[in-house]
Amino acid sequence: MRILCGWMVGVALVLSIGASVTAQSEPLQVMATTSLLADVVARVAGDRASVEALVPADTDAHAYEPTADDALRLSRADLLFTVGAGYEGFIQRLLDNAGAGVPVVAVNDGVAILALAGGETPDGAADPIGILGSTVECTEHSHDDAAASGDHTGDEPHRTDCDPHTWMSPLNVIVWTQNIADALAAADPANADAYHENASLYADELQALDAEIGALVASLSPEKRRLLTNHENMQYFAVRYGFEQVAAVLPGGTSQAEIDPQTLASIIALVRAQGVPVIFVEVTANTALAETLAQDAGIQVVSDLYIEALSGPEGPAPTYLDLMRYNAQRIVGALAGS
Ligand SMILES: [Zn+2]
Repeated sequence: MRILCGWMVGVALVLSIGASVTAQSEPLQVMATTSLLADVVARVAGDRASVEALVPADTDAHAYEPTADDALRLSRADLLFTVGAGYEGFIQRLLDNAGAGVPVVAVNDGVAILALAGGETPDGAADPIGILGSTVECTEHSHDDAAASGDHTGDEPHRTDCDPHTWMSPLNVIVWTQNIADALAAADPANADAYHENASLYADELQALDAEIGALVASLSPEKRRLLTNHENMQYFAVRYGFEQVAAVLPGGTSQAEIDPQTLASIIALVRAQGVPVIFVEVTANTALAETLAQDAGIQVVSDLYIEALSGPEGPAPTYLDLMRYNAQRIVGALAGS
């Protein structure tokens, strides 16, 4: 199969004389920032590209410090996929050091972006602030990530309060698959049809996943659909499946934020007043704050959701599809029993 593919690419190379894109005699070397994104890219790439994650499984991208090996791997890559919308705080630094010349594709381009609510959300039913790359651009904190978000030079407003955790709705990942297929096809035109076909087949699985989660959530009575989270990373899930977001303890959309004692006290008071039974924490986060809150408010901690990264192959969330199924079951199970 590998020999046949090589032969077909060779023919395509001869036939595409004058094309500006270099045809690939070797499979594309593709990097993705997170393990979750690398899994989605690998599904679209199939056996026609090799895909590696910068941030390993079981590791929080919010806290990630790139290594010298990352810089080396990136300098050898044909293409880098990022989540975008201000998610990867480390990426501009890495690109400045080592990534000159590697094309960067933010898969969130074209996704309807929600604003971070800042830690205390009375109602999860947020309206999008715009379409990334078209009517809104997102910048991560004070660090200018615009160059990492693609090549947009338009006049879209730059926001620093974008919620990048779009993958918590599988429908947004369908947008990702289209961006990924387009970028792989542009870099490797000889395999364009295969990339688009892989994306289409995977999109069918994502639609089925969305229906499956919807059916699971429907088994939970509506008054139990309330989410209290450690940081604000389940907003897209909440909006898609009809959960109220009672609060996120840490402000600013990152696990690395800090909270002042007054705000923590007001969240504990809110949790007590509303009888919220559970705080949900991603497995990669420090659980100390959530444990304190849970103890003070007398509620349960579920600290094994996979949100920022996949688990290793032996864990419960080795792929994006597994991750979403596992989280949905864990959330619905914990709230149903409360
Ligand atoms: Zn996060």
